[in-house]
Amino acid sequence: MELARRDVRALSLDELRSFFTSHSAPAFKGKQVYEWLWSKGAHDFDVMTNLSKEHRTLLQDNFVINHIAVDHLQRSTDGTVKNAIRLHDGLLVESVLIPTETRSTACVSSQVGCSLDCTFCATAQLKRMRNLNPDEIYDQVVVIDRQSQLYFNRPLSNIVFMGMGEPLMNYKNTIAAIQKITSPEGLGMSPKRITVSTSGVTKIIREMADQKPKFKLAVSLHSAIEQTRNKLMPFTKKFPLDKLLESLQYWYAQTKSRVTFEYVVWAGINDQQEDVDALVAYCKKVPSKVNLIEYNAIGDDDFVQASPEAISNYTSELERHRIAVTVRRSRGKDIDAACGQLANKES
Ligand code: SAH
Repeated sequence: MELARRDVRALSLDELRSFFTSHSAPAFKGKQVYEWLWSKGAHDFDVMTNLSKEHRTLLQDNFVINHIAVDHLQRSTDGTVKNAIRLHDGLLVESVLIPTETRSTACVSSQVGCSLDCTFCATAQLKRMRNLNPDEIYDQVVVIDRQSQLYFNRPLSNIVFMGMGEPLMNYKNTIAAIQKITSPEGLGMSPKRITVSTSGVTKIIREMADQKPKFKLAVSLHSAIEQTRNKLMPFTKKFPLDKLLESLQYWYAQTKSRVTFEYVVWAGINDQQEDVDALVAYCKKVPSKVNLIEYNAIGDDDFVQASPEAISNYTSELERHRIAVTVRRSRGKDIDAACGQLANKES
């Protein structure tokens, strides 16, 4: 019976070197293969032209190269590109290229579906779930980088982990992917241009802070009032606001990097003065800034974007207390590519 061949991309550089030495071949062949797999994005052993036929066959006999493929893509009138990405086992995730005048940002997924239950998010309604492997996260970045070159003639400038899934529920693979993205053998991108967004998994925020990472952290807050937040994001009952705050204070102490709070204002849910006051008070306790995100409808009438007056009340109150605030307009809405709209809808 033929043994199942392993995915070669699950091997570290050291493991690849050992593979070659254990087959009486020089260790540096491992480095060459690693570069083909990661910097050059090879999907086939046959393209590895600096390897002998014999070594390519050896690899072929022992491994497969699992890789993702763009199943289909949609382009928004504002330039945003949404990709439905087919994984090697047939499942789909979505990855988005968001261009502005000066930047190209990749919004990547960390899980198929999501393990959380945010009531306002389309991804949360997907049933099927598995974690993405480091290479599946990395490959999304490679795909988007190529699209940025193709459509906008420039490389990717930023990456946000704001696609499908909760990156901190797939922490190890997310970190492994970031290591590949930032390493010289990978894409050599600066970690300062990467933002990991979480709904607030406090234990992992602390664990991550201990590594003193250089990437940025964003937290989807949506309310600084416990009851309201619990209703919006039921799983946060396990991660109360005071514990979240402590973990963010710890994050700042370790990294000296301000956290960004992502925040949607909905009519009748969190658009009152007491909601604003609670947010101001919360922000004062940890170096932070606020990003007010426009609500993207997912077909649930319970949620309606708050009035412009309510939004400007937030911005003026935050500014009055010297808390940095930006209002983010959504992009790619016409193709369901905006925040919270990623749900593998067939197009
Ligand atoms: N699970 C992580 C990563 C997903 S990021 C996190 O929650 O941070 C997706 C961002 O879009 C989060 O800030 C999320 O709260 C927000 N979001 C989800 N649904 C949305 C919607 N319908 N409209 C606007 N923003 C939404």
